[in-house]
Amino acid sequence: MDYSTLVDKYEKLESVPSKLAKTGIVANFFRLVPSDQLSKIVLLLQGRVFPSSSESELGIATQMMMKAISKASGISTENVEGILKKTGDLGLTAEQCVKIRKQSSLMKKKLTTDHVFENLQKLATITGAGSQDKKLNLISELIISAQPKEAKYIVRTILGELRIGVAEGLLRDAVVKAFLVDVKSTDEEKKKAVDYALNIVSDFGEVAKMAKEKGIESLKNVMPFLGKPIQVMLGLAAEKIEDVTGEFGKVIAEYKYDGMRCQIHKRGPTVWVFTRRLEDVTRQFPDVCEFVRKCLKADECIVEGEVLGIKNGKPVQFQVLSQRIHRKYDIEKMAKEIPVQVNLFDVVYCDGKSIFEKPLKERRDILEKIVKPISDKFQLAKQIVSGDAGELDKFYQEALNANQEGIFLKVIDSPYVFGRHVGGWYKIKPIMETLDLAVVGATWGEGTRAKWLTSYILACEDPDTGKLLECGMMSTGLTEEQYKDMTKKLKYLIVSEKNRTVFVRPKIIVEVGYQEIQKSTNYSSGFALRFPRFIRERTLEKSEPDTLDRVVSLFKSQGREG
Ligand code: AMP
Repeated sequence: MDYSTLVDKYEKLESVPSKLAKTGIVANFFRLVPSDQLSKIVLLLQGRVFPSSSESELGIATQMMMKAISKASGISTENVEGILKKTGDLGLTAEQCVKIRKQSSLMKKKLTTDHVFENLQKLATITGAGSQDKKLNLISELIISAQPKEAKYIVRTILGELRIGVAEGLLRDAVVKAFLVDVKSTDEEKKKAVDYALNIVSDFGEVAKMAKEKGIESLKNVMPFLGKPIQVMLGLAAEKIEDVTGEFGKVIAEYKYDGMRCQIHKRGPTVWVFTRRLEDVTRQFPDVCEFVRKCLKADECIVEGEVLGIKNGKPVQFQVLSQRIHRKYDIEKMAKEIPVQVNLFDVVYCDGKSIFEKPLKERRDILEKIVKPISDKFQLAKQIVSGDAGELDKFYQEALNANQEGIFLKVIDSPYVFGRHVGGWYKIKPIMETLDLAVVGATWGEGTRAKWLTSYILACEDPDTGKLLECGMMSTGLTEEQYKDMTKKLKYLIVSEKNRTVFVRPKIIVEVGYQEIQKSTNYSSGFALRFPRFIRERTLEKSEPDTLDRVVSLFKSQGREG
Protein backbone atom coordinates (compact mmCIF):
# COMPACT_ATOMS: atom_id res chain seq x y z
CA MET A 1 0.00 0.00 0.00
CA ASP A 2 1.26 3.49 -0.80
CA TYR A 3 2.12 5.45 2.32
CA SER A 4 0.21 8.36 0.79
CA THR A 5 -3.04 6.33 1.10
CA LEU A 6 -2.48 6.07 4.86
CA VAL A 7 -1.47 9.73 5.06
CA ASP A 8 -4.72 10.65 3.38
CA LYS A 9 -6.58 8.89 6.25
CA TYR A 10 -4.37 10.56 8.86
CA GLU A 11 -5.28 13.94 7.38
CA LYS A 12 -8.99 13.15 7.44
CA LEU A 13 -8.80 11.83 11.00
CA GLU A 14 -6.92 14.88 12.18
CA SER A 15 -9.46 17.22 10.66
CA VAL A 16 -12.67 15.69 12.07
CA PRO A 17 -13.19 16.12 15.81
CA SER A 18 -16.12 13.75 16.30
CA LYS A 19 -15.46 10.22 17.51
CA LEU A 20 -18.28 8.85 15.40
CA ALA A 21 -16.91 10.36 12.21
CA LYS A 22 -13.41 9.10 13.04
CA THR A 23 -14.79 5.60 13.67
CA GLY A 24 -16.47 5.67 10.24
CA ILE A 25 -13.24 6.72 8.50
CA VAL A 26 -11.23 3.95 10.18
CA ALA A 27 -13.94 1.31 9.54
CA ASN A 28 -14.11 2.14 5.81
CA PHE A 29 -10.36 2.03 5.63
CA PHE A 30 -10.19 -1.35 7.45
CA ARG A 31 -12.44 -2.88 4.79
CA LEU A 32 -9.94 -1.92 2.09
CA VAL A 33 -6.85 -3.19 3.89
CA PRO A 34 -5.73 -6.72 2.93
CA SER A 35 -5.68 -9.14 5.90
CA ASP A 36 -1.92 -9.51 5.93
CA GLN A 37 -1.54 -5.73 6.24
CA LEU A 38 -4.05 -5.22 9.05
CA SER A 39 -1.57 -5.64 11.92
CA LYS A 40 0.77 -3.02 10.49
CA ILE A 41 -2.03 -0.58 9.68
CA VAL A 42 -3.54 -0.91 13.15
CA LEU A 43 -0.18 -0.07 14.71
CA LEU A 44 0.47 2.81 12.32
CA LEU A 45 -2.98 4.25 13.04
CA GLN A 46 -1.96 4.35 16.68
CA GLY A 47 1.30 6.02 15.69
CA ARG A 48 3.37 2.99 16.62
CA VAL A 49 5.60 0.49 14.93
CA PHE A 50 5.80 -1.83 17.95
CA PRO A 51 2.95 -2.98 20.19
CA SER A 52 2.80 -1.15 23.52
CA SER A 53 4.16 -4.25 25.25
CA SER A 54 7.33 -4.23 23.22
CA GLU A 55 10.55 -3.12 24.87
CA SER A 56 11.74 -1.60 21.60
CA GLU A 57 12.11 2.16 21.59
CA LEU A 58 12.87 4.40 18.66
CA GLY A 59 14.76 6.69 21.03
CA ILE A 60 14.96 9.80 18.88
CA ALA A 61 15.46 13.12 20.66
CA THR A 62 14.16 16.46 19.44
CA GLN A 63 17.68 17.64 18.57
CA MET A 64 18.38 14.64 16.39
CA MET A 65 15.08 15.04 14.59
CA MET A 66 15.92 18.66 13.79
CA LYS A 67 19.27 17.53 12.37
CA ALA A 68 17.57 14.86 10.25
CA ILE A 69 15.07 17.39 8.88
CA SER A 70 17.93 19.76 8.14
CA LYS A 71 19.96 17.06 6.39
CA ALA A 72 17.02 15.93 4.29
CA SER A 73 15.89 19.41 3.30
CA GLY A 74 19.19 21.25 3.02
CA ILE A 75 17.83 23.90 5.41
CA SER A 76 20.24 24.86 8.22
CA THR A 77 19.45 23.55 11.73
CA GLU A 78 19.11 27.17 12.93
CA ASN A 79 16.41 27.76 10.35
CA VAL A 80 14.72 24.47 11.18
CA GLU A 81 14.73 25.57 14.81
CA GLY A 82 13.22 28.91 13.77
CA ILE A 83 10.38 27.13 11.98
CA LEU A 84 9.90 24.86 15.01
CA LYS A 85 9.56 27.92 17.27
CA LYS A 86 6.75 29.17 15.03
CA THR A 87 4.90 25.88 14.50
CA GLY A 88 5.59 24.33 17.92
CA ASP A 89 5.47 20.93 16.25
CA LEU A 90 8.25 18.97 14.59
CA GLY A 91 5.83 17.26 12.21
CA LEU A 92 4.64 20.59 10.80
CA THR A 93 8.24 21.76 10.75
CA ALA A 94 9.22 18.75 8.61
CA GLU A 95 6.27 19.38 6.31
CA GLN A 96 7.29 23.01 5.75
CA CYS A 97 10.94 22.15 5.28
CA VAL A 98 10.19 19.49 2.69
CA LYS A 99 8.01 22.00 0.84
CA ILE A 100 10.88 24.45 0.56
CA ARG A 101 13.46 21.72 0.09
CA LYS A 102 16.62 23.02 -1.52
CA GLN A 103 18.20 19.70 -2.43
CA SER A 104 17.31 18.02 -5.70
CA SER A 105 14.61 15.40 -5.52
CA LEU A 106 16.40 12.89 -7.69
CA MET A 107 16.46 10.33 -4.91
CA LYS A 108 12.73 10.44 -4.55
CA LYS A 109 10.84 7.15 -4.79
CA LYS A 110 7.26 6.40 -3.89
CA LEU A 111 7.00 5.43 -0.23
CA THR A 112 5.00 2.37 0.76
CA THR A 113 3.62 1.59 4.23
CA ASP A 114 5.86 -1.50 4.29
CA HIS A 115 8.96 0.53 3.58
CA VAL A 116 8.16 3.17 6.21
CA PHE A 117 7.17 0.58 8.79
CA GLU A 118 10.26 -1.58 8.29
CA ASN A 119 12.62 1.36 8.37
CA LEU A 120 11.08 2.76 11.52
CA GLN A 121 11.38 -0.66 13.16
CA LYS A 122 15.01 -0.75 12.04
CA LEU A 123 15.64 2.47 13.98
CA ALA A 124 15.10 0.59 17.24
CA THR A 125 17.68 -2.06 16.37
CA ILE A 126 20.54 0.36 15.67
CA THR A 127 22.83 0.40 18.70
CA GLY A 128 26.50 0.75 19.55
CA ALA A 129 29.23 2.87 18.03
CA GLY A 130 28.08 5.26 15.32
CA SER A 131 24.45 4.49 16.00
CA GLN A 132 23.44 8.15 16.16
CA ASP A 133 24.78 8.79 12.65
CA LYS A 134 23.14 5.67 11.29
CA LYS A 135 19.79 6.68 12.79
CA LEU A 136 20.16 10.18 11.41
CA ASN A 137 20.84 8.80 7.92
CA LEU A 138 17.90 6.44 8.05
CA ILE A 139 15.46 9.16 9.09
CA SER A 140 16.74 11.68 6.59
CA GLU A 141 16.56 9.10 3.78
CA LEU A 142 12.89 8.57 4.60
CA ILE A 143 12.24 12.31 4.69
CA ILE A 144 14.05 12.79 1.36
CA SER A 145 11.68 10.31 -0.26
CA ALA A 146 8.64 11.85 1.38
CA GLN A 147 6.07 14.32 0.12
CA PRO A 148 5.53 17.21 2.59
CA LYS A 149 2.47 15.62 4.26
CA GLU A 150 4.22 12.24 4.41
CA ALA A 151 7.19 13.86 6.15
CA LYS A 152 4.83 15.34 8.75
CA TYR A 153 3.48 11.92 9.75
CA ILE A 154 6.80 10.07 9.53
CA VAL A 155 8.28 12.56 11.99
CA ARG A 156 5.27 12.43 14.29
CA THR A 157 5.29 8.63 14.27
CA ILE A 158 8.98 8.51 15.15
CA LEU A 159 8.40 10.89 18.03
CA GLY A 160 5.30 9.02 19.24
CA GLU A 161 3.13 12.10 18.67
CA LEU A 162 0.62 11.24 15.96
CA ARG A 163 -2.23 13.40 17.31
CA ILE A 164 -5.05 12.01 15.18
CA GLY A 165 -7.19 10.94 18.12
CA VAL A 166 -7.28 7.20 17.47
CA ALA A 167 -6.91 4.95 20.51
CA GLU A 168 -8.08 1.47 21.37
CA GLY A 169 -11.72 2.34 22.16
CA LEU A 170 -12.16 3.87 18.74
CA LEU A 171 -10.32 1.06 16.96
CA ARG A 172 -12.57 -1.48 18.66
CA ASP A 173 -15.69 0.32 17.47
CA ALA A 174 -14.20 0.51 13.98
CA VAL A 175 -13.56 -3.26 13.91
CA VAL A 176 -17.22 -3.81 14.86
CA LYS A 177 -18.39 -1.41 12.17
CA ALA A 178 -16.07 -2.82 9.51
CA PHE A 179 -16.38 -6.55 10.00
CA LEU A 180 -19.31 -7.41 12.26
CA VAL A 181 -22.14 -5.31 10.79
CA ASP A 182 -24.09 -8.31 9.52
CA VAL A 183 -23.86 -10.26 12.78
CA LYS A 184 -27.19 -10.62 14.60
CA SER A 185 -26.11 -9.41 18.04
CA THR A 186 -26.36 -6.09 19.79
CA ASP A 187 -23.55 -3.58 19.37
CA GLU A 188 -22.73 -4.07 23.04
CA GLU A 189 -22.25 -7.82 22.54
CA LYS A 190 -20.08 -7.24 19.49
CA LYS A 191 -17.90 -4.76 21.37
CA LYS A 192 -17.67 -7.19 24.26
CA ALA A 193 -16.48 -9.94 21.91
CA VAL A 194 -13.79 -7.70 20.42
CA ASP A 195 -12.69 -6.59 23.89
CA TYR A 196 -12.56 -10.18 25.12
CA ALA A 197 -10.38 -11.31 22.22
CA LEU A 198 -8.20 -8.25 22.65
CA ASN A 199 -7.72 -9.03 26.32
CA ILE A 200 -6.62 -12.55 25.50
CA VAL A 201 -4.50 -11.92 22.41
CA SER A 202 -3.28 -8.40 23.31
CA ASP A 203 -2.73 -7.65 19.62
CA PHE A 204 -5.26 -5.44 17.87
CA GLY A 205 -4.08 -6.36 14.38
CA GLU A 206 -4.57 -10.04 15.15
CA VAL A 207 -8.08 -9.38 16.52
CA ALA A 208 -9.07 -7.30 13.48
CA LYS A 209 -7.87 -10.14 11.26
CA MET A 210 -9.88 -12.70 13.24
CA ALA A 211 -13.02 -10.55 13.02
CA LYS A 212 -12.55 -10.09 9.28
CA GLU A 213 -11.76 -13.71 8.41
CA LYS A 214 -13.57 -15.82 11.00
CA GLY A 215 -16.28 -13.63 12.51
CA ILE A 216 -17.64 -13.05 15.99
CA GLU A 217 -17.59 -16.66 17.26
CA SER A 218 -13.84 -16.84 16.78
CA LEU A 219 -13.52 -13.76 18.99
CA LYS A 220 -15.76 -15.17 21.71
CA ASN A 221 -13.95 -18.51 21.81
CA VAL A 222 -10.42 -17.35 21.41
CA MET A 223 -7.92 -19.26 23.54
CA PRO A 224 -4.78 -17.84 25.11
CA PHE A 225 -1.75 -18.34 22.99
CA LEU A 226 1.25 -19.43 25.02
CA GLY A 227 4.01 -16.87 24.59
CA LYS A 228 1.55 -14.01 23.96
CA PRO A 229 0.61 -12.15 27.15
CA ILE A 230 -2.98 -11.66 28.25
CA GLN A 231 -4.25 -8.42 29.79
CA VAL A 232 -4.37 -8.53 33.58
CA MET A 233 -6.98 -8.27 36.30
CA LEU A 234 -6.57 -5.41 38.76
CA GLY A 235 -8.17 -4.35 42.01
CA LEU A 236 -10.35 -1.50 43.15
CA ALA A 237 -9.45 0.46 46.24
CA ALA A 238 -11.57 -0.08 49.34
CA GLU A 239 -11.39 2.24 52.27
CA LYS A 240 -12.18 -0.24 55.02
CA ILE A 241 -12.15 -4.01 55.41
CA GLU A 242 -15.76 -3.84 56.64
CA ASP A 243 -16.87 -2.23 53.37
CA VAL A 244 -15.88 -5.41 51.55
CA THR A 245 -16.94 -8.00 54.14
CA GLY A 246 -20.21 -6.10 54.59
CA GLU A 247 -21.01 -6.68 50.95
CA PHE A 248 -19.45 -10.05 50.23
CA GLY A 249 -19.16 -11.82 53.62
CA LYS A 250 -16.31 -14.28 53.65
CA VAL A 251 -13.46 -13.29 51.35
CA ILE A 252 -10.02 -14.53 50.37
CA ALA A 253 -7.41 -12.18 51.83
CA GLU A 254 -3.91 -12.16 50.37
CA TYR A 255 -0.79 -10.11 50.99
CA LYS A 256 -0.49 -7.27 48.51
CA TYR A 257 3.18 -7.77 47.78
CA ASP A 258 5.22 -4.74 46.78
CA GLY A 259 7.16 -6.01 43.80
CA MET A 260 6.81 -6.73 40.10
CA ARG A 261 3.79 -8.50 38.72
CA CYS A 262 4.73 -11.46 36.59
CA GLN A 263 2.63 -13.39 34.14
CA ILE A 264 4.29 -16.72 33.53
CA HIS A 265 3.57 -18.91 30.51
CA LYS A 266 4.85 -22.47 30.30
CA ARG A 267 4.80 -25.02 27.54
CA GLY A 268 6.90 -28.05 28.42
CA PRO A 269 10.39 -26.72 29.13
CA THR A 270 9.71 -23.38 27.40
CA VAL A 271 8.91 -20.52 29.75
CA TRP A 272 7.99 -16.88 29.18
CA VAL A 273 7.80 -14.14 31.80
CA PHE A 274 5.85 -10.93 31.17
CA THR A 275 5.47 -7.79 33.27
CA ARG A 276 2.23 -6.00 34.06
CA ARG A 277 2.92 -3.83 30.99
CA LEU A 278 3.10 -7.13 29.09
CA GLU A 279 6.76 -6.70 28.30
CA ASP A 280 8.65 -9.90 27.71
CA VAL A 281 11.30 -10.12 30.45
CA THR A 282 12.05 -13.84 30.11
CA ARG A 283 15.71 -13.17 29.36
CA GLN A 284 16.07 -10.93 32.40
CA PHE A 285 14.73 -13.55 34.83
CA PRO A 286 16.53 -16.84 34.18
CA ASP A 287 16.10 -17.68 37.88
CA VAL A 288 12.31 -17.39 37.64
CA CYS A 289 12.34 -19.63 34.53
CA GLU A 290 14.41 -22.17 36.43
CA PHE A 291 11.93 -22.19 39.35
CA VAL A 292 9.08 -22.64 36.90
CA ARG A 293 10.70 -25.64 35.22
CA LYS A 294 11.34 -27.20 38.61
CA CYS A 295 8.18 -26.32 40.46
CA LEU A 296 5.28 -26.00 38.01
CA LYS A 297 3.90 -29.42 37.33
CA ALA A 298 1.43 -28.55 34.55
CA ASP A 299 2.72 -29.15 31.07
CA GLU A 300 1.03 -26.01 29.75
CA CYS A 301 -0.20 -23.15 31.90
CA ILE A 302 -0.46 -19.41 32.51
CA VAL A 303 -0.01 -18.38 36.13
CA GLU A 304 0.36 -15.00 37.78
CA GLY A 305 2.30 -13.79 40.76
CA GLU A 306 4.38 -11.05 42.28
CA VAL A 307 8.16 -11.16 42.12
CA LEU A 308 10.01 -9.67 45.08
CA GLY A 309 13.70 -8.83 45.23
CA ILE A 310 15.19 -10.23 48.42
CA LYS A 311 18.22 -9.07 50.38
CA ASN A 312 19.18 -10.48 53.78
CA GLY A 313 15.91 -12.33 53.86
CA LYS A 314 13.86 -9.11 53.46
CA PRO A 315 12.05 -7.68 50.44
CA VAL A 316 13.89 -4.80 48.77
CA GLN A 317 12.18 -1.69 47.39
CA PHE A 318 10.72 -1.94 43.90
CA GLN A 319 13.34 0.55 42.66
CA VAL A 320 16.08 -1.97 43.51
CA LEU A 321 14.32 -4.87 41.79
CA SER A 322 13.59 -2.67 38.79
CA GLN A 323 17.30 -2.67 37.93
CA ARG A 324 16.74 -6.20 36.69
CA ILE A 325 13.76 -5.46 34.45
CA HIS A 326 15.45 -3.89 31.42
CA ARG A 327 18.89 -5.33 31.98
CA LYS A 328 20.68 -6.21 28.77
CA TYR A 329 24.10 -7.24 30.14
CA ASP A 330 25.34 -8.98 33.28
CA ILE A 331 21.97 -10.62 33.70
CA GLU A 332 23.29 -13.64 35.62
CA LYS A 333 25.38 -11.39 37.85
CA MET A 334 22.35 -9.24 38.69
CA ALA A 335 20.29 -12.36 39.33
CA LYS A 336 22.83 -13.31 42.00
CA GLU A 337 23.02 -9.78 43.44
CA ILE A 338 19.26 -9.37 43.65
CA PRO A 339 17.76 -12.84 44.06
CA VAL A 340 13.99 -13.05 43.81
CA GLN A 341 11.04 -14.70 45.45
CA VAL A 342 7.91 -15.50 43.44
CA ASN A 343 4.51 -15.41 45.15
CA LEU A 344 1.83 -16.92 42.93
CA PHE A 345 -1.77 -15.80 43.23
CA ASP A 346 -3.66 -16.98 40.15
CA VAL A 347 -3.90 -19.42 37.27
CA VAL A 348 -6.00 -18.72 34.15
CA TYR A 349 -5.01 -21.46 31.73
CA CYS A 350 -4.05 -25.02 32.50
CA ASP A 351 -3.33 -27.96 30.22
CA GLY A 352 -5.43 -26.91 27.25
CA LYS A 353 -8.28 -25.29 29.21
CA SER A 354 -9.10 -21.60 29.71
CA ILE A 355 -10.21 -21.18 33.30
CA PHE A 356 -10.89 -17.43 33.44
CA GLU A 357 -14.55 -18.12 34.19
CA LYS A 358 -13.93 -20.48 37.10
CA PRO A 359 -14.45 -19.03 40.61
CA LEU A 360 -11.29 -17.79 42.29
CA LYS A 361 -11.50 -20.52 44.95
CA GLU A 362 -11.35 -23.21 42.24
CA ARG A 363 -8.50 -21.49 40.44
CA ARG A 364 -6.57 -21.35 43.69
CA ASP A 365 -7.19 -25.09 44.24
CA ILE A 366 -5.80 -25.78 40.76
CA LEU A 367 -2.81 -23.56 41.49
CA GLU A 368 -2.13 -25.48 44.71
CA LYS A 369 -2.23 -28.72 42.77
CA ILE A 370 0.23 -27.69 40.08
CA VAL A 371 2.79 -25.88 42.28
CA LYS A 372 5.45 -27.78 44.17
CA PRO A 373 6.62 -24.86 46.32
CA ILE A 374 10.17 -24.07 47.42
CA SER A 375 9.76 -22.04 50.58
CA ASP A 376 10.77 -18.35 50.27
CA LYS A 377 11.65 -18.83 46.60
CA PHE A 378 8.64 -20.02 44.62
CA GLN A 379 5.47 -20.26 46.62
CA LEU A 380 1.78 -19.45 46.81
CA ALA A 381 0.73 -15.97 47.94
CA LYS A 382 -0.01 -15.95 51.64
CA GLN A 383 -3.74 -16.03 52.22
CA ILE A 384 -6.54 -16.56 54.71
CA VAL A 385 -10.24 -17.04 54.12
CA SER A 386 -12.38 -15.08 56.54
CA GLY A 387 -15.38 -12.81 56.96
CA ASP A 388 -14.26 -11.57 60.35
CA ALA A 389 -13.06 -7.94 60.19
CA GLY A 390 -10.88 -8.38 63.30
CA GLU A 391 -9.11 -11.41 61.91
CA LEU A 392 -8.63 -9.71 58.54
CA ASP A 393 -7.27 -6.60 60.23
CA LYS A 394 -4.70 -8.76 62.05
CA PHE A 395 -3.67 -10.21 58.69
CA TYR A 396 -3.44 -6.68 57.27
CA GLN A 397 -1.14 -5.53 60.09
CA GLU A 398 0.97 -8.65 59.57
CA ALA A 399 1.35 -7.76 55.85
CA LEU A 400 2.37 -4.19 56.71
CA ASN A 401 4.87 -5.47 59.30
CA ALA A 402 6.34 -7.70 56.61
CA ASN A 403 6.97 -4.49 54.58
CA GLN A 404 4.28 -5.28 52.04
CA GLU A 405 1.85 -2.70 50.63
CA GLY A 406 -1.28 -4.01 52.31
CA ILE A 407 -3.75 -6.76 51.44
CA PHE A 408 -6.12 -7.77 48.71
CA LEU A 409 -9.61 -8.90 49.62
CA LYS A 410 -10.82 -11.10 46.80
CA VAL A 411 -14.40 -12.24 46.28
CA ILE A 412 -14.35 -16.04 46.65
CA ASP A 413 -16.39 -16.94 43.60
CA SER A 414 -15.21 -14.13 41.31
CA PRO A 415 -14.05 -15.00 37.79
CA TYR A 416 -10.86 -13.57 36.31
CA VAL A 417 -11.99 -10.35 34.62
CA PHE A 418 -9.55 -8.07 32.81
CA GLY A 419 -9.05 -4.62 34.31
CA ARG A 420 -10.62 -3.23 37.50
CA HIS A 421 -14.11 -4.44 38.38
CA VAL A 422 -16.71 -4.32 41.10
CA GLY A 423 -17.11 -7.72 42.74
CA GLY A 424 -13.55 -8.92 42.04
CA TRP A 425 -10.47 -7.79 43.92
CA TYR A 426 -10.31 -5.01 46.51
CA LYS A 427 -7.12 -3.56 47.87
CA ILE A 428 -6.65 -2.20 51.34
CA LYS A 429 -3.65 0.10 51.63
CA PRO A 430 -2.73 2.70 54.24
CA ILE A 431 -2.57 5.68 51.87
CA MET A 432 -5.27 7.20 49.78
CA GLU A 433 -5.61 5.87 46.27
CA THR A 434 -3.00 7.45 44.04
CA LEU A 435 -3.14 8.34 40.34
CA ASP A 436 -0.62 7.45 37.65
CA LEU A 437 -0.34 10.49 35.40
CA ALA A 438 1.70 11.57 32.41
CA VAL A 439 4.02 14.57 32.63
CA VAL A 440 3.11 16.69 29.59
CA GLY A 441 4.96 19.88 30.49
CA ALA A 442 7.09 21.54 33.13
CA THR A 443 8.31 24.93 34.28
CA TRP A 444 11.81 26.02 35.21
CA GLY A 445 12.44 26.67 38.88
CA GLU A 446 13.55 29.95 40.40
CA GLY A 447 16.66 31.16 42.21
CA THR A 448 18.98 28.28 43.05
CA ARG A 449 16.66 25.92 41.21
CA ALA A 450 16.64 27.86 37.96
CA LYS A 451 18.52 25.07 36.17
CA TRP A 452 15.90 22.50 37.00
CA LEU A 453 12.38 21.83 35.84
CA THR A 454 10.58 21.86 39.18
CA SER A 455 6.83 22.01 38.46
CA TYR A 456 5.22 19.38 36.31
CA ILE A 457 2.00 19.57 34.30
CA LEU A 458 0.09 16.33 34.81
CA ALA A 459 -2.42 14.69 32.52
CA CYS A 460 -4.76 11.71 32.38
CA GLU A 461 -6.00 10.08 29.19
CA ASP A 462 -9.29 10.06 27.30
CA PRO A 463 -9.58 6.28 26.73
CA ASP A 464 -11.35 6.62 23.38
CA THR A 465 -9.22 9.18 21.63
CA GLY A 466 -5.95 8.75 23.53
CA LYS A 467 -5.93 12.53 24.03
CA LEU A 468 -4.11 13.69 27.15
CA LEU A 469 -6.14 15.92 29.42
CA GLU A 470 -4.43 18.12 31.97
CA CYS A 471 -5.46 17.77 35.59
CA GLY A 472 -2.94 19.57 37.73
CA MET A 473 0.50 20.94 38.42
CA MET A 474 2.84 19.12 40.81
CA SER A 475 5.93 20.55 42.43
CA THR A 476 6.36 18.79 45.76
CA GLY A 477 7.46 15.40 47.01
CA LEU A 478 10.71 15.23 45.05
CA THR A 479 14.22 15.21 46.47
CA GLU A 480 16.92 17.37 44.84
CA GLU A 481 18.24 14.25 43.12
CA GLN A 482 14.77 13.50 41.77
CA TYR A 483 14.38 17.06 40.41
CA LYS A 484 17.71 16.65 38.63
CA ASP A 485 16.77 13.24 37.28
CA MET A 486 13.38 14.49 36.03
CA THR A 487 15.01 17.53 34.40
CA LYS A 488 17.50 15.31 32.58
CA LYS A 489 14.77 13.04 31.27
CA LEU A 490 12.32 15.81 30.36
CA LYS A 491 14.94 17.88 28.50
CA TYR A 492 15.29 15.00 26.09
CA LEU A 493 11.55 15.08 25.40
CA ILE A 494 10.94 18.82 24.89
CA VAL A 495 8.83 19.64 21.83
CA SER A 496 8.18 23.33 22.40
CA GLU A 497 8.76 26.13 24.91
CA LYS A 498 6.78 29.15 25.95
CA ASN A 499 8.27 31.61 28.44
CA ARG A 500 9.38 29.46 31.37
CA THR A 501 7.24 26.47 30.44
CA VAL A 502 8.31 23.56 28.29
CA PHE A 503 5.96 21.06 26.67
CA VAL A 504 7.18 17.50 26.42
CA ARG A 505 6.38 14.21 24.77
CA PRO A 506 4.29 12.28 27.34
CA LYS A 507 6.77 9.52 28.08
CA ILE A 508 7.16 9.92 31.83
CA ILE A 509 4.50 8.44 34.09
CA VAL A 510 4.44 9.42 37.76
CA GLU A 511 2.46 8.13 40.68
CA VAL A 512 0.84 11.12 42.34
CA GLY A 513 -0.72 11.48 45.79
CA TYR A 514 -3.12 14.34 46.54
CA GLN A 515 -5.46 15.63 49.17
CA GLU A 516 -8.55 15.60 47.03
CA ILE A 517 -9.87 15.93 43.50
CA GLN A 518 -11.83 19.07 42.67
CA LYS A 519 -13.82 20.15 39.66
CA SER A 520 -11.96 22.85 37.75
CA THR A 521 -12.27 24.91 34.63
CA ASN A 522 -8.50 25.57 34.60
CA TYR A 523 -7.60 22.20 33.18
CA SER A 524 -8.78 20.41 30.05
CA SER A 525 -9.88 17.31 32.03
CA GLY A 526 -12.34 19.44 34.00
CA PHE A 527 -10.67 18.33 37.25
CA ALA A 528 -7.76 19.52 39.37
CA LEU A 529 -5.77 17.69 42.01
CA ARG A 530 -5.50 19.56 45.28
CA PHE A 531 -1.96 19.45 46.72
CA PRO A 532 -0.55 16.88 44.32
CA ARG A 533 2.71 15.33 45.48
CA PHE A 534 5.21 13.08 43.75
CA ILE A 535 5.35 9.55 45.07
CA ARG A 536 7.47 7.75 42.48
CA GLU A 537 8.14 7.38 38.82
CA ARG A 538 6.28 4.50 37.16
CA THR A 539 7.56 4.74 33.60
CA LEU A 540 9.13 1.28 33.82
CA GLU A 541 5.83 -0.32 34.80
CA LYS A 542 3.32 1.68 32.77
CA SER A 543 3.34 3.37 29.38
CA GLU A 544 -0.05 5.04 29.66
CA PRO A 545 -1.50 7.23 32.40
CA ASP A 546 -4.76 6.53 34.21
CA THR A 547 -7.91 7.38 32.31
CA LEU A 548 -10.29 10.26 32.83
CA ASP A 549 -12.90 7.67 33.89
CA ARG A 550 -10.70 6.73 36.82
CA VAL A 551 -10.28 10.38 37.83
CA VAL A 552 -14.07 10.78 37.67
CA SER A 553 -14.69 7.65 39.73
CA LEU A 554 -12.16 8.71 42.37
CA PHE A 555 -13.78 12.12 42.42
CA LYS A 556 -17.18 10.52 42.97
CA SER A 557 -15.82 8.18 45.65
CA GLN A 558 -14.93 11.26 47.72
CA GLY A 559 -18.65 11.58 48.18
CA ARG A 560 -18.71 15.27 47.29
CA GLU A 561 -20.21 16.69 44.14
CA GLY A 562 -19.23 20.07 42.73
P1 AMP B 1 -2.25 -1.44 42.03
O1 AMP B 1 -1.06 -1.25 41.13
O2 AMP B 1 -2.15 -0.69 43.32
O3 AMP B 1 -3.56 -1.27 41.31
O4 AMP B 1 -2.23 -2.97 42.49
C1 AMP B 1 -2.27 -4.03 41.60
C2 AMP B 1 -0.95 -4.77 41.64
O5 AMP B 1 -0.75 -5.40 42.91
C3 AMP B 1 -0.92 -5.96 40.69
O6 AMP B 1 -0.60 -5.56 39.37
C4 AMP B 1 0.17 -6.84 41.28
O7 AMP B 1 1.42 -6.49 40.73
C5 AMP B 1 0.20 -6.44 42.75
N1 AMP B 1 -0.11 -7.55 43.68
C6 AMP B 1 0.60 -7.81 44.79
N2 AMP B 1 0.07 -8.83 45.47
C7 AMP B 1 -1.01 -9.26 44.78
C8 AMP B 1 -1.98 -10.27 44.99
N3 AMP B 1 -1.96 -11.07 46.06
N4 AMP B 1 -2.96 -10.40 44.07
C9 AMP B 1 -3.02 -9.58 42.98
N5 AMP B 1 -2.12 -8.61 42.74
C10 AMP B 1 -1.12 -8.43 43.62
